[in-house]
Amino acid sequence: PAAAAAPQDGSPPRKKKIAIMTSGGDSPGMNGVVRACVRMAIHLGCDAFCVYEGYEGLVRGGDYIRQMEWHDVRGWLSEGGTLIGTARCMEFYERPGRLTAAKNMILNGIDALIICGGDGSLTGADRFRAEWPSLLEELVKTSQLTPDQIAPYQHLNIVGLVGSIDNDLSGTDATIGCYSALARICEMVDYIEATASSHSRAFVIEVMGRHCGWLALMAGVATGADFVFIPEKPREDNWREEMCEIIQKHRKIGKRKTIVIVAEGAHDRYGNKISPEMIHELLADKNGLALDTRITTLGHVQRGGTAVAYDRMLSTLQGVEAVRAVLEATPESETCFIAITENKIIRKPLMEAVQATKSVAKAIDAHDFDRAMGLRDTEFSDQYMSYLMTTTVQLDQNMMLPEEKKMKIGFINVGAPAGGMNAAIRAGVAYCISRGHEPVAIHNGFAGFARHHADGAVRPFDWLEVDGWASKGGSEIGTNRELPAESGMETIANLIEQYRFDGLFLIGGFEAFHAVSQLRKARDQFPSLCIPITLLPATISNNVPGTEYSLGSDTCLNELVSYCDKIKQSASATRRRVFVIETQGGKCGYVATLAGLGVGASAVYTPEEGISLEMLTQDVRHLKEVFAQDKGQSRAGRLILVNEKASRVYSAKLIADIIREEAHNRFEARDSIPGHVQQGGVPSPMDRCRAVRLAIKCIQHLEGFGRNSHNRVKKEPMSATVIGIKGASVVFSPIEVLEESETDWPNRRQRSSYWFDMKEVVDVLGGRPPHAEPE
Ligand code: ATP
Repeated sequence: PAAAAAPQDGSPPRKKKIAIMTSGGDSPGMNGVVRACVRMAIHLGCDAFCVYEGYEGLVRGGDYIRQMEWHDVRGWLSEGGTLIGTARCMEFYERPGRLTAAKNMILNGIDALIICGGDGSLTGADRFRAEWPSLLEELVKTSQLTPDQIAPYQHLNIVGLVGSIDNDLSGTDATIGCYSALARICEMVDYIEATASSHSRAFVIEVMGRHCGWLALMAGVATGADFVFIPEKPREDNWREEMCEIIQKHRKIGKRKTIVIVAEGAHDRYGNKISPEMIHELLADKNGLALDTRITTLGHVQRGGTAVAYDRMLSTLQGVEAVRAVLEATPESETCFIAITENKIIRKPLMEAVQATKSVAKAIDAHDFDRAMGLRDTEFSDQYMSYLMTTTVQLDQNMMLPEEKKMKIGFINVGAPAGGMNAAIRAGVAYCISRGHEPVAIHNGFAGFARHHADGAVRPFDWLEVDGWASKGGSEIGTNRELPAESGMETIANLIEQYRFDGLFLIGGFEAFHAVSQLRKARDQFPSLCIPITLLPATISNNVPGTEYSLGSDTCLNELVSYCDKIKQSASATRRRVFVIETQGGKCGYVATLAGLGVGASAVYTPEEGISLEMLTQDVRHLKEVFAQDKGQSRAGRLILVNEKASRVYSAKLIADIIREEAHNRFEARDSIPGHVQQGGVPSPMDRCRAVRLAIKCIQHLEGFGRNSHNRVKKEPMSATVIGIKGASVVFSPIEVLEESETDWPNRRQRSSYWFDMKEVVDVLGGRPPHAEPE
């Protein structure tokens, strides 16, 4: 992109000036946006500016518009809120306000503006750009500026970034901040659950979302709430009876806690508000459920705190793309915003998305709820169905299958534990119960199956117990790395026959993938293996072929990012220090790279790329330069992330030793290995929600084969599959295709990695010089 504007008088090109601003309600990740934009702008040869306090700063000018240097945004990824401030600005709604803003932009020589905010802020931005020529005209006419002054600024380039905790903007799968807000909500609900359970209480929890129930719905799915109210899909007229019936049923089976989540914009089908107080009254009614009920309004805690790993990734990649977009924009191009769809960062027309967003609110106001739901993405409606299926267990007789279609399904975990495994089992079991299937737990993987089946390793699930697993980390049914061939394929085949399993549901990582492959290949020899088998990938390494995302990888990234934040803090309290942190991930550099993106690492070493002596030499030289230039303004430490298998020789410890030796006491270097911490304690909401959605789809897939499907299974490749998220779609891929075309067997990972380009972003924003490729 052209970073320099060429004046028409033939004088040398001047550097372009790009300003960044945050506006509207703050959201976690906004600082990541500012950091990425500032550094990317400087990297591409521009001057970077920040407009403080949103449009207010643009109208006031002066000190509100400040040039930013590379080091000014150090450490910003780990800060909550927005460090350049945000405000709601009344003056900007009016033309005189926008006129002053235009004047201030020109006086500061700003060529382009990147705005991170909600739909209001982005509407304002579009209006500003549309009016720009007439604003310039007026500035000249009223002699506030001369024609010469306005000459270089005939067109205003504007790009929007969606910063909002509500995830309410159409056209993008996630807004910057929504997953952090969801994490906070789930954390709070988890705390409340503990006390609710102790006192056998009911809690009505109000969460944000006036026209968008995303936070409420996802929190409901992630925490296994008893009932959820969202604006897009009001309940039937008998919602009072329905809610009480469900809660009563849950209480009858022995649940000691009741959680109801209400979006602040919840209402009935006629638009009448459903308030937490109304729900409280119903639950506490002496003649009804008579529950000891409390209301908790979460309020501003939902906005607070640092961004989760996903928001750091999103804000960084989108910030980088926004700078590219403003530099590439022409007077003819439409104003765009940066979206994430199908796991890709793309540019989309801004006003179309704003209009579509407004249509949701309009549809809700007009009580056209089908349309409101239809305007949300498929994940939203899918999650709504998942939520219904996991909370109305055994209640809806229409869900029940005829006797001949009911299956006995074995659930088994293979490999290391990963966040979301339990949530997946809970959802799978709930769905099975609603359909009349018989879900059976196989404890401790194939090893448990082969050697301890007679001592209780194979047993039915206890729903009351399983229902409490929504937010539990680890693997409640136990997991084991042993492959079926190691346990004895004949033994496994005989046991499948003995227990009369009609289908097998595996949850696990690369070992589980390998296990499915072995079972499929052994079908010719052992006909009892001709039952449908499906795998839900769950591993922090995110290395399973057939999916771009495995359960547990998001939890792992959050753990790593918060671990690194703490380490950075400790480094800043002591001396100038480089921390070399070893990450897990096997031979897949996903976790190291994405964590590097989330913490602003100085370098990331992956197995895909390897480590060479030249790389180390260059990186050490770079660190020396950085510390030599550092005049004390950045006491925070620097981080290098090394995947555990990036090199057979250069371990984290050795790299730290090399750096220390070379630093000659000018700075320190230490290694640190978070190890199993990376498997995480409580799984992240993203892992939990996706676990629910995907597990239900897996059981539905098995259900498609039904009982006695041996002959069909033999013929159909789709009878042994991996479920995956690819782009925006959930897809089942036959294992026989994946084995051949998508699996790098020696390195136990996918052949192609969509995330690999992100490493370049880590390098650019970390200021790392381009390095030689290892031979
Ligand atoms: P949130 O998601 O927190 O509501 P938002 O960006 O939608 O964020 P708003 O308060 O609607 O928040 O907008 C922020 C600011 O953007 C306003 O205070 C105003 O300065 C400007 N703005 C919003 N809408 C317009 C508009 N139609 N014309 C001009 N400026 C606007």
